Amino acid sequence: MQALLFESITVDEIDLSLLKEKNVRLAVLRLDKIHPVISGNKWFKLTDYLQKARDQDKDQLVTFGGPYSNYVVATAAAGNLLGYKTSGIIRGECPETLSHTLLQAMNYGMELFFLSREDFRRKTLPLELESKSNNIFLINEGGYGEEGARGAANILSYCKKENYSHIACAVGTSTTMAGLVKASMPHQKIIGISVMKNNVDLQKHLCNLLSAEEQQKEFQISHNYHFGGYAKYTQELINFINEFYMNTCIPSDFVYTGKLFYGIIDLIKNDSFPGGSTILLIHGGGLQGNLSLPKGTLIF
Ligand SMILES: *Cc1c(COP(=O)(O)O)cnc(C)c1O
Repeated sequence: MQALLFESITVDEIDLSLLKEKNVRLAVLRLDKIHPVISGNKWFKLTDYLQKARDQDKDQLVTFGGPYSNYVVATAAAGNLLGYKTSGIIRGECPETLSHTLLQAMNYGMELFFLSREDFRRKTLPLELESKSNNIFLINEGGYGEEGARGAANILSYCKKENYSHIACAVGTSTTMAGLVKASMPHQKIIGISVMKNNVDLQKHLCNLLSAEEQQKEFQISHNYHFGGYAKYTQELINFINEFYMNTCIPSDFVYTGKLFYGIIDLIKNDSFPGGSTILLIHGGGLQGNLSLPKGTLIF
């Protein structure tokens, strides 16, 4: 198992004629470089949970997710690295062919349980795990929770955060965005691009992770760039991801970061950022998710 390479994180300045034209600067915080699987925000969202599991002397990590969950596979890889047994409780019946994400999780030694959508919603533990509950440390789906947000707040210590007027990330559970809001400075605005369609509770979920004082900070979620919903995509999005890679050499994924990049570029085109803005995009990793696309869809 490859170690985590925090020293390889870079801040890449983007050079596009649009940016000069609109007088804004754009940079990408490359959290995708930490590790091919525990990439991006996922490690940060795990650290405080891992510390708690150690403090409580637990020897098994259990988390929940869909068959393409980056968080499930990151938990598997982290457990493998740190010597925890791991179990993933997966939404839906066991499919005939497992997703790349789940195969990878199994390769890291994770034991998988499949739950019907109804049992999954109730977060029912399989009996086998229930009987071991003393040794188990449970982590919410996607790492949602205060520990996750506290860990994600450390993301901004890998750049000179004071240099930016806007910081933007893709939003699934909102845990990462909550961390960024916590760590943000008074002159900054945090922008989240939701990757789900009509996720009407998102603002509420985000605010649940923030103190009353933090809720007064500047932040905003955009719901206009989901491309049909979670893990849905269009040819336009694929073309954009390929073009962005050709222009910048930065790969992105079609579930999260591609939608983030598309959304922010579109907002720049629409003059949503005042001249002189300096925008930092958080590259949340997740590139392994691209393996579920037909071969040849992406050029990298
Ligand atoms: C999980 C993930 C996100 C979303 O993070 P949340 O904290 O759940 O909002 C964003 N980008 C990538 C690449 C991810 O894997």
